Amino acid sequence: RVVVGTKVDQNHVNWVTAYNMLTGIRFTVSRTNAKMDRELTDADFEARHKFSFDITGNELTPSAKYDFKFKDYAPWVFRHLRAQFGLDPADYLVSLTSKYILSELGSPGKSGSFFYFSRDYKYIIKTIHHGEHKFLRRILKDYYNHVQENPNTLLSQFYGLHRVKIPYGRKIHFVVMNNLFPPHRDIHRTFDLKGSTIGRDFKEEDLENNPRATLKDLNWLRRNLHLEFGPTKKKAFIEQMQRDVKLLQKLKVMDYSLLVGIHDLERGNEENLRDKTLQVFQPGGVDSQEPGPDRLMRTPSKMENIRKAKELRQMIKNQKPIPMDQTASKMPDELQDPKKNTYFYSDDGGFRATHEDDSDGEEIYYLGIIDCLTHYGFVKRVEHFFKGLTNTESQISAIPPERYGDRFVRFISAVTKTGEAAEREKAQEHQD
Ligand code: ATP
Ligand code: CA
Ligand code: CA
Repeated sequence: RVVVGTKVDQNHVNWVTAYNMLTGIRFTVSRTNAKMDRELTDADFEARHKFSFDITGNELTPSAKYDFKFKDYAPWVFRHLRAQFGLDPADYLVSLTSKYILSELGSPGKSGSFFYFSRDYKYIIKTIHHGEHKFLRRILKDYYNHVQENPNTLLSQFYGLHRVKIPYGRKIHFVVMNNLFPPHRDIHRTFDLKGSTIGRDFKEEDLENNPRATLKDLNWLRRNLHLEFGPTKKKAFIEQMQRDVKLLQKLKVMDYSLLVGIHDLERGNEENLRDKTLQVFQPGGVDSQEPGPDRLMRTPSKMENIRKAKELRQMIKNQKPIPMDQTASKMPDELQDPKKNTYFYSDDGGFRATHEDDSDGEEIYYLGIIDCLTHYGFVKRVEHFFKGLTNTESQISAIPPERYGDRFVRFISAVTKTGEAAEREKAQEHQD
């Protein structure tokens, strides 16, 4: 399988779907945000609203380029979540603009999900299975409460849950979430860590053709890598991870991973490509990625963006509906960085390595717990049964959520140590 991050323009097979997704998001988000804020009620978690878009427009929806149906789930909950995560409403709308909008990470991983990146790479739209969709709705309150109590959570930040359907097409469910990786920095290595060893090896030979591949647990261990955090950051990181995993265990979630992007400050930005970012995105299980000519996109001027965002902010304040064809996009550092407030994303969007004395280290880690909507249900139990026949349990990846979480925490904690600590341990080993 070859994956190329491609610009979704009018010639792209998924243009209509992508366009409709964004049109729907922009309409529903501005609709909700135009209202006065209020406290959430229980009903907000169950809420869903259906809209029909057509080319002529009607009393409820403005005219759109195509006919489609759009469903918005729990809009008030997600409004509050976005606020909690520090997103500016106008900023969010500007990012999810509808012209030359997205790049698609084609040919996706095992799950069949598609990933789309907002043009400024701050947000990811991930299509999800109906089961994942139902599951997210079911756990929304727990997730919401967790985020309230853990503003620095490492879990994926969900900003919206929607469904789109074109005439005669199938229903497509999707979430909008944070892109963990920064648009403006090279990620020199990416790892997807689960704490399991079975099937958790990216063939090192294939790295040559695909230097940006997402590596896995065994590749990490082979390189003897660590998340190099001194005492203060280490404590904060492990404690937060434990709290997050506890929630996932309670909700019987499994198969999630810690996504880690490493930026080496000494190497800095080697590839001076505006769209270098596309190269770091690799869906699960993908073997190779070739750079495509489509990577380069026009980036609007800074002034253009700032003006657009101001305008939008004003409109929201005046409770005016946002015009559907509002287009703008901006460089990442021009307006507010949504992640600035959260601890683990506060060092230029990531979390900088530290030494034993808590002084700054040489790497910035961009990390978070992703893919956390897989419920340990029937499918996994079946997988467990069959795999259990051939492998020892400690090594299989489909184990019950409780043990999955414990193993995950054990693995990540074990590899969280400073370079100095790792050196000392190595010396100690030699002595013994
Ligand atoms: P599978 O179920 O086969 O593991 P999936 O389709 O559910 O795959 P994910 O595991 O969610 O996909 O993500 C696949 C890859 O996409 C990750 O390894 C990572 O490279 C990229 N990715 C996913 N979520 C994010 C994110 N929030 N920020 C940056 N990159 C991401
Ligand atoms: Ca995954
Ligand atoms: Ca998945």
